[in-house]
Order: sequence, then C-alpha cells, then structure tokens
Amino acid sequence: MTQSEEGLDLLRSLIRIDTSNPPGNEEAAVQFIEAWLRKEGIASEIFSPAPRRGNLLARLKGKKTGEPIVLLGHIDVVPAAEAGWTEPPFSGAVRDGYLYGRGTVDMKSDVAAQIMAFATLKREGITPERDIILLVTCDEETGGQMGVGYMLDAVDELSDAAFVLSEGGSIIEEEGVLHAQVSVAEKKICQFMIRAHGTGGHASMPHKDNANDKIVRAANRIASHNWPIRRNRVATRYLTGMLKGKKFKGFTFSTLSDALRRKSFRAFIGDNAVYNALLRNTAALTMLKSGVKVNVIPTESEATFDARILPEEEHEHFLAQVQKVAGRDVEVVPLSRGDSIPSRYDTDFFKAIRRVVKARKGNIPVLPFITTGATDLRYFRGMGITAYGFSPIILSREEHLTMHSVDERISVEGFTEGLDATYAIVKELAAYSPAD
Ligand SMILES: [Zn+2]
Repeated sequence: MTQSEEGLDLLRSLIRIDTSNPPGNEEAAVQFIEAWLRKEGIASEIFSPAPRRGNLLARLKGKKTGEPIVLLGHIDVVPAAEAGWTEPPFSGAVRDGYLYGRGTVDMKSDVAAQIMAFATLKREGITPERDIILLVTCDEETGGQMGVGYMLDAVDELSDAAFVLSEGGSIIEEEGVLHAQVSVAEKKICQFMIRAHGTGGHASMPHKDNANDKIVRAANRIASHNWPIRRNRVATRYLTGMLKGKKFKGFTFSTLSDALRRKSFRAFIGDNAVYNALLRNTAALTMLKSGVKVNVIPTESEATFDARILPEEEHEHFLAQVQKVAGRDVEVVPLSRGDSIPSRYDTDFFKAIRRVVKARKGNIPVLPFITTGATDLRYFRGMGITAYGFSPIILSREEHLTMHSVDERISVEGFTEGLDATYAIVKELAAYSPAD
C-alpha cells in the first residue's frame, strides 16, 4: 500500500467508528488509533474521563525535553441522521472521487493526516528537536471539558507546550484570490437569553402586558441591530492581505480604513457572513420558548441568542449594550461565555506554515485569520500558548459547506495532497529549535 492509500484507509476506518457527540463513544476510536500506532512501534496512552469516552496521547521523543509541540485533533463528530445522504454517513464509502461521511471535513481527515505524519517521521528515523505530542481528544463538539479540558488537568506538560496545531483555517479561494487562512484567534462566545414577564389571561381578551409581545419586540430590536464595524488587528491584516489592489465598485482596495469609508464596501462586508463576523460582534437568535396553549396568554417568555464577540470586546460591555438595545421590558440573562486570547503571528511557526504553503502552492498570501466559531484551541491560547488552526487539506467551497451537514465529503485527491502537505508542516515543526 502506498502512503496515500494507507492514509485513505485509515480515514475510512475512523469514519466507520461512529463517534457522534452526544453521546461520543470516542473510546472505540482511540483504541483503534492506539492499536494502529502500536504496529508502528509507537506507544500511546489512553485517558478515560468517563465510561466510553477517551483521549489519546502519543509521543515522539525529541532531542531536548520541555516545551513540546502538540498536534491536536478531536475525534468526536456531530450526529448525522441517514436521511438525505448520498452514501450512509458512517459507511466510509467512496463514490466518484469523493469520500463521504460524517467527520470527513470536521475533522477526522486532519486527525488521519496527523497520525500519518507522526508515523512517517518515525519511519524515516527523524528525531525531532522537541517532543512532538499527538493528542486526539473527545468532546470538542460539546465544549471540550472531557477532552482538552480534562487532558490539561491530567498532563501538566501540555501547559508547557511551545506550539499547538489544530483546526480552524484552510487554503481557500475567496473573491478570486487563493490564499491560506491561518487561524490565530477566534470570536468569543457570549451566549445570553432575554426573559420577559407579563400578566396571564384568556387569549380572547388581549391586554398590554403580554410576555410574548415584549419578547418579540425586544428580540426583533436585537436581531435587526446593526452592530458597528470594528477594525481589529487580525481582520485588518487578513482583509488587506487578500484584497489589496483588487477592484470593487468604483474603487481599488488600498487600506481597510479607506475601503470602509465607502458605502459599497460596507454593503459588501454586510452581505458576506464571514467578513461580517470578522469585523462585528454578532448575535443570532437561536431558540424561542414560551406558551403552553393557543388560548392562554403566557406569563413568561424567553428568547436565546448565540452571540460571538470580537477578541477585543468585553463580555460585560457587550451585554450592557444588548440590554440597552433590548429595552426595559426584558432582562438580559448571561448564559455561557468564552475567552480568547489571539496568538502572535510573527513566529517561527507561522513562517514554517508559510514556507510549506508557498513551496506547494506558489506565491499565494498566507494570512492570519479569526475563526468565527469556537475550537479547542481557546484552551491553549487562554494560557498564552501559541496555537494555530490550519489544515493544508484543500476543500472546495462546496465541500466546506458540507461540514456539520448532509453529504459531508472530501475529494480523495484533495485529501491525498493534504496528507503530503501535513507531513511537510510536521517535518518543519520537528526541526523547530529556538535559540536558548
Ligand atoms: Zn471541529
């Protein structure tokens, strides 16, 4: 078997192990990886935070101890019902050059590529400068407490990592510009709900103190609020790096501040869900809860929002603004929140990724990026560890959009190329040797 065939075979095996979270059942998957690595002569340790859950840690010993480099991947996936899929989501079927399955994009393909790269270093007899740790975790899709959270408590050394590489950025074409997004930050989670109280009664006699009316009005004000565009360091660098010199309606992009003075450009940002999220706090109305019967006016009503705020924004400040926008008829109740400290991008790790991308793809821009969703990397960034989200497996826009959706799939060709590129990056990381 060639290395590409081996990698594909490994990925198909991982897809066939159903790690839908909830409930997770990742133990079977990490046991499979443990056995796979054992055949390569690589020992690994399994950590069980709960029955049927599991994390795996394997290590290639480096020349020096301390400050390991961590390849991080989560093995759980979001659930998938069979309806609507061209091939069943846990079959690992290949059809017309595509591998179908839950986790082909998020992120078993990266896990397979990391395992392959890890084994290839060993096969080629390369001793890394620092320990390289392969960390396969559970529970990412529901917050990561049993995965990365658990592992950080269990293994002190992880808090001493020099660098962590996981998901969040990719090589992608946008606005006709092929470029690499290396995620160095993510939006901060700031979920909240608004709650209103009112007077009950028979629906045949409507009055002015209906809890639902208050929620509908307040939720509408929040949902339609135009949060101001806020330039921030990473988004400015990203958009400028990609768009500089590009022609828009009536002007040529030179700087972000200049572009944002133009109505046409502000409209362009507003219409692009990703760029919009890079420059604004956002609040999406996701759940509505109220009422028990069609002819009963309820006394309480709730609407829940998933807000993602910019790295520079403070939770309290944002929630105070939400209360102002929502008005006095409702109370704003904070739910969960997350912090995010952006990683620096003037590092040897960023340079290593840039070298690999340019060697393989030519002189395309390699740019820092903000992931709009949350990943396990926030745990590491929160401790001040440099952590990037980047996968060199190239996905088309169409494949990208199948993430968490039906027909999640990856082209076999893209995956094969990604295997090679992942190895090239890991090889660079193995040579990382900072001056003491
Ligand atoms: Zn993921």
